[in-house]
Amino acid sequence: MIRIALAVLAALSIQPSLAETRLVHTQAEYENAVQTLAPGDTIMLANGEWRDFEILFTGKGASGNPITLTAQTKGEVLITGQSNLRLAGEHLVVSGLVFRDGHTPTNTVISFRRTRDDLAYHSRVTETVIDRFNNPERHETDFWVMMYGRNNRFDHNHLVGKSNAGVTMAVRLDSAESRQNHHRIDHNYFGPRPILGSNGGETLRIGTSAHSLADSHTVVENNVFDRCNGELEIISIKSGRNIIRGNLFLESRGTLTFRHGNGNIVEDNVFLGNGADHTGGIRVINFDQVVRNNYLSGLTGHRFGGALVVMNGVPNSPLNRYFRVDNALIENNSIINSDHIELAAGSDAERSATPINSVFRSNLIFNEVRRNIVTVHDDIGGIAFSGNALNAVGGSPLESGFINAGIKLRRAGNGLLYPADESLPKVGVSRNLEVLDRADTGVAWYPKPGPDNRFDTGKTVNIAPGLDSLTDAAAAAGAGDVISMAPGDYLVSKTIVVDRPLTVRAPEGSARIEFERTALFEIAEGGSLKLDGLTISGAAAPDVAGNSAIRTSRYSMLTNYLLVVENSHIEDLNTNHSFHFFTIAGHTFADNIQITDSSFHDITGNILALDEETEDLGIYNGEYISITGSRFQNIEGAIADIYRGGTDESTFGPHFELRSSALASVGQGSRNRSQASIRLHGVQDSDIVDNEFIDSQPVRVTHIVGDPVTVIAGNRFTGTPEPILLEFSPR
Ligand code: CA
Repeated sequence: MIRIALAVLAALSIQPSLAETRLVHTQAEYENAVQTLAPGDTIMLANGEWRDFEILFTGKGASGNPITLTAQTKGEVLITGQSNLRLAGEHLVVSGLVFRDGHTPTNTVISFRRTRDDLAYHSRVTETVIDRFNNPERHETDFWVMMYGRNNRFDHNHLVGKSNAGVTMAVRLDSAESRQNHHRIDHNYFGPRPILGSNGGETLRIGTSAHSLADSHTVVENNVFDRCNGELEIISIKSGRNIIRGNLFLESRGTLTFRHGNGNIVEDNVFLGNGADHTGGIRVINFDQVVRNNYLSGLTGHRFGGALVVMNGVPNSPLNRYFRVDNALIENNSIINSDHIELAAGSDAERSATPINSVFRSNLIFNEVRRNIVTVHDDIGGIAFSGNALNAVGGSPLESGFINAGIKLRRAGNGLLYPADESLPKVGVSRNLEVLDRADTGVAWYPKPGPDNRFDTGKTVNIAPGLDSLTDAAAAAGAGDVISMAPGDYLVSKTIVVDRPLTVRAPEGSARIEFERTALFEIAEGGSLKLDGLTISGAAAPDVAGNSAIRTSRYSMLTNYLLVVENSHIEDLNTNHSFHFFTIAGHTFADNIQITDSSFHDITGNILALDEETEDLGIYNGEYISITGSRFQNIEGAIADIYRGGTDESTFGPHFELRSSALASVGQGSRNRSQASIRLHGVQDSDIVDNEFIDSQPVRVTHIVGDPVTVIAGNRFTGTPEPILLEFSPR
């Protein structure tokens, strides 16, 4: 009896004690604690800032009894500086951390492996935030999340603002241990990713071309992709047997692309473009792909970025080109008020293999204005069309397999549009398709970003003329503030560094600014600038070459900036040669530069030069550049010199517009390297319409890659050569 009792006691004492929670306050305490973890144990990081912390989390938990790394209070543990997280082992869970105010010293912020051979399995990262945790050098490539191993889950995380090069998140299939991985990526908030201006801005990639014939079996479900605008691909599938379902794509430029790999399913997703530029849907390439029950609305994208794109392939394609579409099933999708469906897209001498053995049935294509949105680029005899509906479109290239008649739509309780006539054979998405709510993704304790309204959101500060009254007011201004200038003369003795959105405004022509440094304004990291009604003279600037009225930071900038100039008058930038209105540094990027109803005269340099990426790597310096209703006289340099070199097809821009403007004696300076009044090199979308050119250098346009659209119309050229258009074909 006693012996038995002792035996029981002994057994109890070697039983693992109840799962232990250890609160650690320093990196040394963490490193000690992580050595001795047993299934069920938890390490808790104390609230506060953990700076320069490369977290290595290893251990072997058990099924249903994981080892956990978490925050004392979720959201109150900040991982900053040069930090990252690697997890390796089994049944590990990480939660509640916030990565911000820093970047990873390695190539990854969160990696599901310790080394190439030590991976994570059955492990989970949840309720974790990565907020602008970017390498300060824009084109230094790194990644936020890399999934390796098998049976891992990444869920309820919040990833916002990756603005340096490199995919935000990738599933890697590099070794056999990472294939057939059955990972689950769900309920994450993939928030705004700004335009990168280069390849390498994807939000999620599954696989790589080298391993694309391997099956991944990754499920991507119930995530929000909100303004994921990095480049042409929002999600790039480069492996087989993945399922992408129930996600919401909100105003995201680009498409979900079946780039490589076979047998993927994309179903029950909702794409809402809301008319935003270059918003796209689904692009189909390869074998056995299923596109089912997706709702695609308000998508404006064209070419490879359309609402639905079925590509042509390359016969006997190498792994990194385009396999033909074979045995695709595209059914019960609703394509509503979108601008482009492209079939046999990309057809050319190389991509000559048309889609085969494919089915397109029971889809609803509805456009309010009954415009044909379908473009057929090659033979589509290999696609069988049946039971689809079109809204009384005249001249549709799709004749059989469609009801082509007036359709009325009615908005249902889920917010989506369905045919009002219930007797119509079932076309489009199912009635029970659910639209994911942003609030049901990510974490509740970290706010999701609102609309990007940068200007005129703060207070108005009134200033009087004098020495540095503008300088002082700008230094004190908050984000979105407006400096309102009283009439009179202003002198600025220091360059005004703009690192927040700022508006400077005066009644047109009443406030005149002179400046004594090599630049009046410098747009720095985080800055955007709007000038309205100002007169700016270079008369007081130093007598040196290369001044500018406005410049960007001299260094790489992560945050895309805006520059708006309205109703303003710029004169006498001529104290020496090469005095520019606006100059930039390499590795900076403008979302938008807009000059409206303004005048420029007697300037020895360029007005806008966005020509700093000359290595022909597909990198460029600005997305939208627009000049309207403005006058230019006696400008020795170019009005606009925009350069985007290289043959990469991953981006949409740059876009350029010159409209209703007058140019006299522009570009004739001996230092004008472009020998043009306007030089556009590799610009994708140009409108030069309704302008007058007098005694100026010609417009020079060089097409480099893609299907650039250049419209030059309604201009008058006097003493100015006709525009010179060069086609440069890479293949
Ligand atoms: Ca890409």
